Amino acid sequence: MKAIKVEKTASRGIVIGKAFRVEKPSLKINFGTIEEQDIPKEIKRYESAVFNAEAELEVLAKTNKIFEAHLEMVKDITLYEGVISKIQEEKQKAESALEATAAEFIQIFENMDDEYMRERAADIKDIKYRLMCGLQGVKDNVFEDITEKVILIAEDLTPSDTACLNLNYILGFITQEGGVTSHVSIMAKGLGIPALVGVQGILSKVDKDDTIILDAGEGTILINPDEDTISKYQELQKEQLKKQAELAKVNHLPAITKDGKNISLCANVGNIKDIKKALEYRIDGVGLFRSEFLYMENTHFPTEEEQFEVYKEAAQLCGKELTIRTLDIGGDKALSYYEFEKEDNPFLGWRAIRISLELKDMFKTQLRAILRASAFGIIRIMFPMIISLEELRRSKALLEECKDELRKQMISCDHNIEVGMMIETPASVILAEDFAQEVDFFSIGTNDLTQYLLAVDRGNKKISNMYNSFHPSVIRSIHTVIMAGHKNNIKVGMCGEFASDENAVKLLVGLGLDEFSMSASEVLNVKYMIRNTSFDDAQDLAARACDMQTIQEVYEVLNVKK
Ligand code: PEP
Ligand code: MG
Repeated sequence: MKAIKVEKTASRGIVIGKAFRVEKPSLKINFGTIEEQDIPKEIKRYESAVFNAEAELEVLAKTNKIFEAHLEMVKDITLYEGVISKIQEEKQKAESALEATAAEFIQIFENMDDEYMRERAADIKDIKYRLMCGLQGVKDNVFEDITEKVILIAEDLTPSDTACLNLNYILGFITQEGGVTSHVSIMAKGLGIPALVGVQGILSKVDKDDTIILDAGEGTILINPDEDTISKYQELQKEQLKKQAELAKVNHLPAITKDGKNISLCANVGNIKDIKKALEYRIDGVGLFRSEFLYMENTHFPTEEEQFEVYKEAAQLCGKELTIRTLDIGGDKALSYYEFEKEDNPFLGWRAIRISLELKDMFKTQLRAILRASAFGIIRIMFPMIISLEELRRSKALLEECKDELRKQMISCDHNIEVGMMIETPASVILAEDFAQEVDFFSIGTNDLTQYLLAVDRGNKKISNMYNSFHPSVIRSIHTVIMAGHKNNIKVGMCGEFASDENAVKLLVGLGLDEFSMSASEVLNVKYMIRNTSFDDAQDLAARACDMQTIQEVYEVLNVKK
């Protein structure tokens, strides 16, 4: 039996079955150049590939939203013009022109800091493959050979691949490429199919028809296990199914501990689609609307009107408290339409509130849009990356300026709109008591707080083993912030990933966290845990955890097995 351990789970669950290796026919593409007289023919060839791709995607888009986006991309004039100009001006073959143009697009997406945006490079690769197949006249469905239930092992699975699959036969997915926000991950999560992605070297370790145990929740893959191991996992599988049925039962119930402490359970979202998804669960509101997506998915700084429409729709749709975080851009989170100066230390550089306070007109545009939308729902404003009271006061002063302008223009807004801040820098932890006197709420951003407290870059794979929110300094900082907030009668939430970490939930309840905010798919699990926790016990646990000096000791107190 061979065993593989992976850190990040794409979609939880245990399955046992035969491996099916996905081996796609490699396209034998002849790249190169053409003669002047062949240019019109080559353009026609490309146009006909686009025409066919559009026809295919129009059919697929009817049943799968991902293909709506692909259809838009195939129709995208920049992609089209990029390819045509390379055929016309550089006399490249259609295949070469497509390869080069797609590579430019892929590079832009892959260089983005945001994981979600980085994964969009996969869409371009998928479209490129479809167009290449069209140019080469290749039509192959490698999945036709699947006639029984299998665990798919693939280098990567594009949305087009998954659309060709008969999902009744798919027990689970394991891919070599991709991240937890890739299409295959999102799809697997949506369908409840266990999946692990980014499992390096998996194709070289698994043969056709090998028996596989995939425990995606634990990040474990066992290849050709013995009978005893299979029986053990079959038992675990049964327990999990029972648990899922239990989880589904709590969806319509509030997040309340066994001894009656109410906790607010909210969602983190980036757009309207995310809000719709989150509303499938019984949530208490949106604890983090990452407004930067609105800017990153645009070709220009969104206007006041454009933003107003989105925030208004979001507030109306949400129907409960919607916390909009002002623009958190910069560092290496780029905008395609704005040139950032190169920085040696982008994460310690010009980002978030620092940019907003410098590009004041842009900031005021956003604040006005949020304020106008606040007339249509319950909106809270939250400032990111604050390190000083000056920054907070300047931000609040600009907000007041915007309110005055709107008042003079007789445009309605919520003049008592709640104003909060992210606690994600060590400075904001140390000054938490001072900040708490000047805001209506805190939201702890553990993703950044961990990286800044430990001086460990959150995106650097080389030191990822050092990035750990169970570090006593992080735990004690959370404690400090919650105490400072409560002393000043303000609510303290958390919107970093730590809020949905199974091993942290009880600790955070015990520390007194008022609001947990997380991606929608985590809500049920956390709610279930909260409903099975007693606040009294959790407080004891938290007190002990705060006394610990090492990560290992914290793990022992929390009973974390690592
Ligand atoms: C955080 O830092 O924890 C956070 C929620 O913000 P982001 O992940 O968007 O930086
Ligand atoms: Mg952050």
